[in-house]
Amino acid sequence: MAFLQIYATGGVKKTTAAKFWELHRSFGTFDDREMKGFPTLLKRVRKRLPNINMSWRVKDITTGHVHTGSGAIFPERRFKDKNRFVLLEMWSRITLKELMKLHVQLHPGKSQQWFRDGVMQPELMPLRFTCDGIPCGKSTPDSLHVTAVRFRGCKNVYILETRIARRKEPKLLEDFLTPFVEACLSLKAPVEKFLGDAPIRSFYKCMKGHAGYYSCEVCEARGTCVNKKVCYPSSTMGEPLRTMAKWTEAVEEQETMGVDNVYGITGKSPLLRLPGFDMVSDSPSDPLHRDFLGITKNMWRLCVNPNKQGNMSARTQSMVSKVSKVYASVRLPHEFSHRARPVDMANFKSHEWKSLLMTSFPIIADAGQELRGGHCGVMWTLFVFLLRIYNGPEQYMQELGEARLRDIHKKFYKAFESEFGEGACSFNLHAFSHMIENRQFGRQHDISTESFESAYGMIQLSYAPGTRCIGKQILERMLIRLLKYQGHYCEYRLKFEQFKQENRYDDSIVTDDNWNFFKVKSVNKDTLKVVKIHKRKWVSLFDTDLPFDKAGVFQFNGYSDEEIILPKTQFTGKGVMYEKRILMGLYWDLLFS
Ligand SMILES: [Zn+2]
Ligand SMILES: [Zn+2]
Repeated sequence: MAFLQIYATGGVKKTTAAKFWELHRSFGTFDDREMKGFPTLLKRVRKRLPNINMSWRVKDITTGHVHTGSGAIFPERRFKDKNRFVLLEMWSRITLKELMKLHVQLHPGKSQQWFRDGVMQPELMPLRFTCDGIPCGKSTPDSLHVTAVRFRGCKNVYILETRIARRKEPKLLEDFLTPFVEACLSLKAPVEKFLGDAPIRSFYKCMKGHAGYYSCEVCEARGTCVNKKVCYPSSTMGEPLRTMAKWTEAVEEQETMGVDNVYGITGKSPLLRLPGFDMVSDSPSDPLHRDFLGITKNMWRLCVNPNKQGNMSARTQSMVSKVSKVYASVRLPHEFSHRARPVDMANFKSHEWKSLLMTSFPIIADAGQELRGGHCGVMWTLFVFLLRIYNGPEQYMQELGEARLRDIHKKFYKAFESEFGEGACSFNLHAFSHMIENRQFGRQHDISTESFESAYGMIQLSYAPGTRCIGKQILERMLIRLLKYQGHYCEYRLKFEQFKQENRYDDSIVTDDNWNFFKVKSVNKDTLKVVKIHKRKWVSLFDTDLPFDKAGVFQFNGYSDEEIILPKTQFTGKGVMYEKRILMGLYWDLLFS
């Protein structure tokens, strides 16, 4: 590895040496007698880390010549004149095979299942991948693009490659997706899902963007043009669905007819080469960006209706602070590590919206009723009800039935449309209406980019702005981080993770599969001492007539006197109580996604 090579040839700083000793120790095979100084140490560390290869394009602005090159070290000295050389693009990559080797190394307990006759079998390691652009700092003209991989059953996010480039540098599918697809093909590594936000999905799938007429990846609905903007009114719900067969047909038609697009499909995506990969079901829209950063944020903005300076009316403002106050009083399970910043709903991040909507319903519906002359309450109630159903266990949807669910969803869509007009119906709103289908593509947790997003938070902390080798730095830090924390909890059963650190345990309400709520009195090794909580059916909110019990929402009706001891395995979820009136169940998926 380059940075090790630099130290090896140019002398070693003491602090660096200390760091590598520590790293080496963490590999677990440390033996004092074998160590004969730093060169030996370096050799061993180098053996353990995958190779990072870089490739770059640098432009000489005095001559206009573009220098390209690749290798383990960027020739910093050659291009050091920053007034003359501009870095156009730099890739840093680890090969997929090396990444798989690292993954095996990090899972000593599981690794046997990936081997046959002593040889690692990539085809036994199904993976999902994502790509995203990450802001590279405000003052730089650069953008950072990251491809990350996760393996089935593991929470680790592995960064496979990074690309740093001028913002205006063109993105080519051949540079981005094709090498990855080819690596998967040559290793026979099965790709389960491709996740990402709307722009990257349409780019990789060779589709018209999310502002086009046929933007939907699930159906053939056509948007309509209102005020020079394509929107998707409620009438677009229920159009014929796309299938993989139709997709390949459209690709062929587009090619042979030479037209711009067929149902929004503009060409042959490299993803089509992956065996068994379904363009419709294996790359669904991302609930995190769509529901929380998209619809919720937009709907909230439309409701509070700030003026051009961003100020709200006094009435709205008092409503907002009421919501924040009530939300702050809800005792969230500790998995919601990010406590909401009160009153700052205009700047909520996706996870903050998520926890607000999931735990504090129906405060937000109550608030909606007082906004915009009393029309928004029903709309918010329907919306949050749907979110709870879609994010909950599968049985929610089954119990409710597809027809009923579609009916409720249509009601919400129409409520939104009549409140804000056709022109406000963004593509997100249409994509949300496919949750009924998307739920069959996998658990919410499996089709969300949430797990990757948290890794990006780490990325933003792991480089020094202004460095030309940012991408490489990120990869290096990731590798070191992964190696330092071997034996992470994916090797255990996720379900019991919460009980391990008992001093951290502060959650007082747990539930079982049938939404029986219990208040926790004390925690023992395998059991919990609990008190049963009585509940009642939640009375309907406004005139919506929704079956709240199906969404895990009940009315609090007092505690039982009797303390009972139950095994921990009996509990499958947690609960929150809101204003000592309403009990809400939280499903595991919702807690650990
Ligand atoms: Zn793991
Ligand atoms: Zn659609």
